[in-house]
Amino acid sequence: MAKKEKLSKAKGGARWTVLGAGSILPRRGYGCSGYALEPTPGGPVTLFDCGPGTLRSMAEAGLELSALTRIVISHFHLDHCLDLFALGFARTNPAFDAPPLELIGPVGLQHYIEGAAAALGNSPARGFLGVRFLEVEPSGKIASREFEDYKLSTVATYHTLQALAWRADLAGGGSVTYSGDTGEEPMVGTLAQKSGFFFCECSFPEELGQPNHLTPAGAGRLAAHADCATLVLTHFYPSCDPERARVEAAKFFKGEILLAQDRSVFELAGDRTGEGCS
Ligand SMILES: [Zn+2]
Ligand SMILES: [Zn+2]
Repeated sequence: MAKKEKLSKAKGGARWTVLGAGSILPRRGYGCSGYALEPTPGGPVTLFDCGPGTLRSMAEAGLELSALTRIVISHFHLDHCLDLFALGFARTNPAFDAPPLELIGPVGLQHYIEGAAAALGNSPARGFLGVRFLEVEPSGKIASREFEDYKLSTVATYHTLQALAWRADLAGGGSVTYSGDTGEEPMVGTLAQKSGFFFCECSFPEELGQPNHLTPAGAGRLAAHADCATLVLTHFYPSCDPERARVEAAKFFKGEILLAQDRSVFELAGDRTGEGCS
């Protein structure tokens, strides 16, 4: 992947950077879940999930911690959340001028953050004092909310009791859906309906499939239901070979299929052909 070349293609439209395209099991080039949305490149950053290594990956991608103003969480598994606590601690550091922050996620998010003090001490939780929490009750019905630069929509995935998939429709054009972790839940495909990009997990190859995760074929079927423009496969466990995954997904989804890698960058608006990491 010609990473620098991709970055230089940014022309001012919304940008989505993969910070971690893997799972909790270490794999080179595939860190834990984290994605950065920049409605305006170089402007405020919204993170979707914040798994371990996300903050370091942000630095590698040239994204400033001081630009991080909102975090959207899919569910409470540690491969999607653990760097929240590193961020809380960073925000208490006297060398860091912490900006206002909003945390959005399933019901229980604030309790999850504050409860960590029992194990981690008060510092991480103190870093979130004054932060605005916005909690969503997971539901099989799509719920939406308007923000300045985009509309956020969400639906339950049932991967866990509190798991959510998210979609952002940019005010300046373009849309992206992020499955979080999910089984083959039709409403996740409905959420991604006609989405420009559908970042969909495909944890395990077909022979190792689990009911609360997707295989590449399951991701392909959800993308076909979504009729999205581009399916981007992500959340690869070490057992899931990305190129093989693309072949399997293509049996069900006839649109463009790309493969996420850490720090691949996607233009959300305009002509997307050839953008991102193929
Ligand atoms: Zn999970
Ligand atoms: Zn996961």
